[in-house]
Amino acid sequence: MLETLKKVFGFEKFLPHQETIIRKIMDGNDVFVVLPTGGGKSLCYQLPAKILSGTVVVISPLISLMKDQVDAARENGISASYLNSSLCREEKEEVYFNFRKGDLELLYIAPERFAMEHFLEELKTVPVSLFAVDEAHCISEWGHDFRPDYLSLKDITAYFPDIPLAAFTATATLKVQNDIIKKIGLRKPFVVRASFNRQNLFYQVKRKEQVSGQILDFISEHENESGIVYRTTRDSVIKLADFLSSRGVRAVPYHAGMSLEDRKRNQETFNRDETDIIVATIAFGMGIDKSNVRFVVHADLPKNIEGYYQETGRAGRDGEPAQCLLFFGRGDIPRLRYFIEKITGEQEHKVAEEKLYSVVRYASHNVCRRRQLLDYFGEEYPDENCGACDICTDIAEKTDITIDAQIVMSAMVRTGQRFGIRYIIDIICGAGTKRIRDLHHDTIKTYGAGKDRDKYFWHFVVDELLAQEIIYQDGDKYPVLKLTGKGTALLKGEEKLFALKRDARKKKAPSREKDGFAPGDEKLFERLRAHRKLLAEDHNIPPFIIFSDRSLNEMCRYYPVTLPDMKNINGVGDTKLEQYGRQFIDEIKAYLEENPDVRPKPVPEEQSFFPDTALKQKRKKGETIQKTRELFSKGLSLKQIAKERGLAMTTISGHFERMILNGEDIDVDRLVDPGKQDKIKNHFLTLNTLKLTPVVERSGGTISYVEAKIVRALLEKK
Ligand code: ADP
Ligand code: MG
Repeated sequence: MLETLKKVFGFEKFLPHQETIIRKIMDGNDVFVVLPTGGGKSLCYQLPAKILSGTVVVISPLISLMKDQVDAARENGISASYLNSSLCREEKEEVYFNFRKGDLELLYIAPERFAMEHFLEELKTVPVSLFAVDEAHCISEWGHDFRPDYLSLKDITAYFPDIPLAAFTATATLKVQNDIIKKIGLRKPFVVRASFNRQNLFYQVKRKEQVSGQILDFISEHENESGIVYRTTRDSVIKLADFLSSRGVRAVPYHAGMSLEDRKRNQETFNRDETDIIVATIAFGMGIDKSNVRFVVHADLPKNIEGYYQETGRAGRDGEPAQCLLFFGRGDIPRLRYFIEKITGEQEHKVAEEKLYSVVRYASHNVCRRRQLLDYFGEEYPDENCGACDICTDIAEKTDITIDAQIVMSAMVRTGQRFGIRYIIDIICGAGTKRIRDLHHDTIKTYGAGKDRDKYFWHFVVDELLAQEIIYQDGDKYPVLKLTGKGTALLKGEEKLFALKRDARKKKAPSREKDGFAPGDEKLFERLRAHRKLLAEDHNIPPFIIFSDRSLNEMCRYYPVTLPDMKNINGVGDTKLEQYGRQFIDEIKAYLEENPDVRPKPVPEEQSFFPDTALKQKRKKGETIQKTRELFSKGLSLKQIAKERGLAMTTISGHFERMILNGEDIDVDRLVDPGKQDKIKNHFLTLNTLKLTPVVERSGGTISYVEAKIVRALLEKK
């Protein structure tokens, strides 16, 4: 298993739970898995696909998701296909043909196919090693993404009593979990429920002022990073996207009122790093497998913590640090209340209100954000300080409320800890109510001690004390306030108490450098990122499928310049090494030569599995564009240069591309036949694209990628 992990996926270690899950599957057990987003669920069925004989069949809800997953699997050298309504008849037949022949390791299938009896009968004739249901919560009406198509999966175990079945999801309360297990018919499954904690996410709340400007500031500090900005209304989505675009930010909108086509296009653009920012309503949701989302900003208060957790969960799937920023202004509360007021059922109304209250609490109290989120899902966070939220890192500005807290607690104690919130606040504010007079509470020392502040302030203090567990509410119907152990200590004046400053500007979040994960070298990172982008265009796949941000970051930390070193980079398996390794090495080498002060570090971990032949390929120094330029001026053709230097043609054509874009005077006619140049130019113009694939495809094999790339550079330069 470890060998496959390294060879195929390029990873050194399993992520938590992966190994256990895979073992159980390989032993023929059913499994049920709740792993948070980015927890590496796909690998749990893709790795067995590589090892087990027979095909692993994956059921997945979205066509777009299937395509990306298949592309990603293929990039790792897994033989993978999918069957869904987007394929034409011939394509489907081809997939079936390979499937029956036993040539497929991995096959993605849309759920609705399982409703067809002839399909199930047909499946019986093919050796299937495992059924894996991804996004399994879609089968539950209690979940938040119910899809009726998923109900067709209920027959699988009846038809295939001997084939293990595995279900995966990122969100399931216990209720949803049991529902899924029952509906899919899992047989005594091995259950894994992982922690909801997403360690690499940094949570922060800022006061909402001029939110568009604040977002622009934030984005400017995160140049060239991918991010999602959520807004509540369609109108505000469009306005913000326009505003950002007008300030030179690459941003596109996404909301349910747009045509399907526009939505698809904008999502695709985002996936391919052709835009940095997508401004969206929460309609932009499932099906985003993009791993290099570096931040998720909420410009408005979300309705509930579930939603907030899910939306922020889309950041940092690759495990690299990512930011979750919420802009919170009390002005958002009435808007949400307005919708809650429209809910008719009494119980639902109450639940919605309670949920809103949880979000407000999350945003306004001096309590670790991570602790609060986990607490919401019934999980206790063990550490005192999480080190990755604005509260625990002290970037949120705080104010000392020790004295105010003591006033509240003193009022509680002097009345025997027998009264509720409203009564205690009445005493503090010195209210002249009959009840207070009857009980003679107008004579205690704290009566009126806080009358220079209004009731709202005292509610805030009480809330804060509740949130920080200084006091608690005891009793169901008429809860009374009581001190906890922490409260007793505070009352004695042994400790100080802080709340979030409510109207202060907050300090900046720590930059990525400080947290130890940052790319070793920003300049190189940008260069590799640009290279990845070009490759992705050429291969017509999203950039993060070529290499994740994490892989690029490691390259910038260790500067691998040999194939064995490159192989030790996280996420570089055999297939990717062969396909892209050399090109990235060339980029790094060129960079190192331009920056002689930078010293490569050894890549940690042993070199392993490496074929001798490749080790022997020693490479000369001085391999830069300069060298290509020299050889070209000596009369060598592009092909000859590639051969002479032992580099890929695409790498050399990349050198020429850069020279052309730099405005160097190059005899392009020697690279591409002049007659052909015009033909290629016309293709680009009529197809109205700068992508290589459509042009190459249109030529029916008469134009190569290399030629197209050179001509594109000419056009771009123009
Ligand atoms: P999920 O479906 O659980 O949200 P994915 O399967 O999309 O997560 O995986 C998230 C990211 O983690 C991907 O970029 C994947 O390549 C990476 N990953 C998976 N397993 C490992 C591992 N063992 N080591 C390092 N990265 C991994
Ligand atoms: Mg997944």
